Amino acid sequence: MVNESVPSVTLQVNHVVTVAEIVLAVPRRVYTKPNLKPTTEKSTMKLLIAVDMEGISGVVNWDQVDPSHAEYQRFRAIMTEDVNAAIQGAASAGASEFVVADGHWNSSNILIERLDPRANLNCGTPSPFSMVQGVDAGVDAAFFIGYHARAGSLNAILDHTWSSARVANVWLNGRLTGEFGLNASVCGHFDVPALMVSGDQTVCAEARDWVPGVEVAQVKKAAGRWSAECLPLEASRQLIQETAERAVRNFMGGKHPQPLKTGTPVKVKVEFLATQMADSSVILPGAVRVDGRTVEFSAADMPAAYLAFRSVVGLALR
Ligand SMILES: [Zn+2]
Repeated sequence: MVNESVPSVTLQVNHVVTVAEIVLAVPRRVYTKPNLKPTTEKSTMKLLIAVDMEGISGVVNWDQVDPSHAEYQRFRAIMTEDVNAAIQGAASAGASEFVVADGHWNSSNILIERLDPRANLNCGTPSPFSMVQGVDAGVDAAFFIGYHARAGSLNAILDHTWSSARVANVWLNGRLTGEFGLNASVCGHFDVPALMVSGDQTVCAEARDWVPGVEVAQVKKAAGRWSAECLPLEASRQLIQETAERAVRNFMGGKHPQPLKTGTPVKVKVEFLATQMADSSVILPGAVRVDGRTVEFSAADMPAAYLAFRSVVGLALR
């Protein structure tokens, strides 16, 4: 999601919050399962486009995704164009409604004045579903544009998991995950399948590992954390557009990956980068200390797990 910023935390630390309250704090609609999608051909389709910045075309270093750096202004425009390419491709294959979730930093990166006018934009922070805000509003499928590989990945541009300054590793029910796995699992709770990801070769492989059959647009080949061979922007947008079109055409024809299901309850383990982070985050009711840098908790379902995960990361003192 972000480099150094603190993910949004809605819990007040001076109030003793129980896990039951966290679950209760989730809007009721979270627990209302949408209608199951028919596997036959569809005539309309509402698409959620979840967008991060590190996997956007041409991005290779932190300066380019940091709002305080001059380089950032160039790349937020390029980010907007990557999203437009995805919308164009999806629309040409029959997607009829678009909601874009801006999921990087403070969720205010995409230039609304340059965004395809067919799309609504979920922006600003905090929001209940953060990087997949809008997923609970009758969405049929999701794209992940500009994503990056999980923390610790080899040859992955700006690899991290949620907070590069705090989080070393995250496990979902025992499986090491990055932001793709986390967010695709929230989508899966609502029976929303992940259809496409764009980014470097490593996040593409990570996404395929979680969701066999997901379409990938590899817009750069990482040679390390801060270096990559990038496609020319025109070629990159063309690739995103064609991949989006194929993903939606297959979806409309009833051929698509299954929604990613974690099973319930959801056990989340978070290894931080330093011990004081675990010291401060383990105060979340229900969290237990596993070792010096690691805390673990269990949640009733994926939306509750996502809120609790964001809470422990927000509580972690740097
Ligand atoms: Zn990210």
